[in-house]
Amino acid sequence: MNERVKANLRLGAMLALLLGLILTAPRVAISQAENVITTLKQLSRTRPNIVHYREIGRSSNHRPIAAIKISDNANLEEDEPAFLFVGIIHGAEPLGLKITLKLIQEFIDSYGKNHDITDWVNAYEIWFVPVLNVWGYERRARKNANGVDLNRNFDFRWERCIATNQDCANPASPFYRGPAPFSEPETRAIRDLVLEQRPLFGITFHAGNPSPSGEVMRPWATNEIPPPPDNIKLLEVAQNFAMWVRQSREGGGFCRSDSPIFDVSVCAPPVMRMLGAYGQSSNWVYAAAGTFDYIIEIAPKPFNDRFLYTPDPTDDNPLILLAALEHIRNYSDAIRGWLRWFLLGKQNNHFVFRGPGLTGKITDAATNQPLAATIEIEGFNGPYTQPRTSDPLTGRFWRLLPAGSYTVTITKSGYRPWAGSIEVRNGALAPLNVTLVPER
Ligand SMILES: [Zn+2]
Repeated sequence: MNERVKANLRLGAMLALLLGLILTAPRVAISQAENVITTLKQLSRTRPNIVHYREIGRSSNHRPIAAIKISDNANLEEDEPAFLFVGIIHGAEPLGLKITLKLIQEFIDSYGKNHDITDWVNAYEIWFVPVLNVWGYERRARKNANGVDLNRNFDFRWERCIATNQDCANPASPFYRGPAPFSEPETRAIRDLVLEQRPLFGITFHAGNPSPSGEVMRPWATNEIPPPPDNIKLLEVAQNFAMWVRQSREGGGFCRSDSPIFDVSVCAPPVMRMLGAYGQSSNWVYAAAGTFDYIIEIAPKPFNDRFLYTPDPTDDNPLILLAALEHIRNYSDAIRGWLRWFLLGKQNNHFVFRGPGLTGKITDAATNQPLAATIEIEGFNGPYTQPRTSDPLTGRFWRLLPAGSYTVTITKSGYRPWAGSIEVRNGALAPLNVTLVPER
């Protein structure tokens, strides 16, 4: 195809897009959140061995907030690391929902057929909350029914928000943080799930930022407080994910440069630190639970900044639908590529975390029972992160770390503290199983 024909086609497509947007009146789709719930419930009924449905709370308009867990023995809490994907926290940004639904469908359809996916489902507990902001999604509104920006309502330096120019104390502002941290039922629902599951990795999708290349945002950036103790690993994981988005976009039509350089490429989403760091989800999730939690801003192209909030792909306009499908494919491919090549390696034909890092179980020396103990790694504490603890049900902990040697202290009240040093090497998680002796 020559350049002129291409240019004409592009012009035609743009005009059709514009006309389509003018002709397509904004639609209020009250029933769509219900449809998602019906779909998830149906999946849990048809595939009960790998899909577990749970209502994690009620929204600000008293509707169920639905979650599903995909894992083998889905109804059991097993000794497996959890992942968490949240589709919609800002209701006007529905693309994240479509990506989580596609991942859910792929994982379920490919279980028992595709080796990689079967291994992941067997080895991990993969949680999805496709629609956290139910009211906002139904009305394509950023905030919830109480007029609160849920992504400013988390209890991470929430009080500091007012010191910025975001106007977050003003109920009329799109960034209104609410009357108190976790004042909203939606943020409380996700808070409780995170504290119960303590996921190893988490992603919340957004699609409302006009940055042409999208963004991968990691906890946190402000000169007011020290960087996160896990800064190096948080960045490495984010950069790797960004690379997968770029790679999966090749041939997708959104890529204008092949630069592999992070942070400057117009092709890979740049890795950003969360600016401001007042009340946003990922900062709190990381600080409270140790989760490597990220905000993925989906590139709005070809929706330019005039259409800041991306339309729902189920809207009628075929060009929007096509573009949305492209995004959905790109990001779900990226997540699968990232899982396959970066997070996990194969050992004895099974996926294991490449690490590097530490994992192990903390148990009572007398009874052999699992313990929820505090695992402290020298140099990895900070005033803004909660102590990292082992799972009360299994005694298990997971810690991603750069390769190196570490001094570890394990404490629990009523037990003698344990301290030791351990070498963490590239390519694996070093085992650290510790029994604590009760004090008499
Ligand atoms: Zn958003």
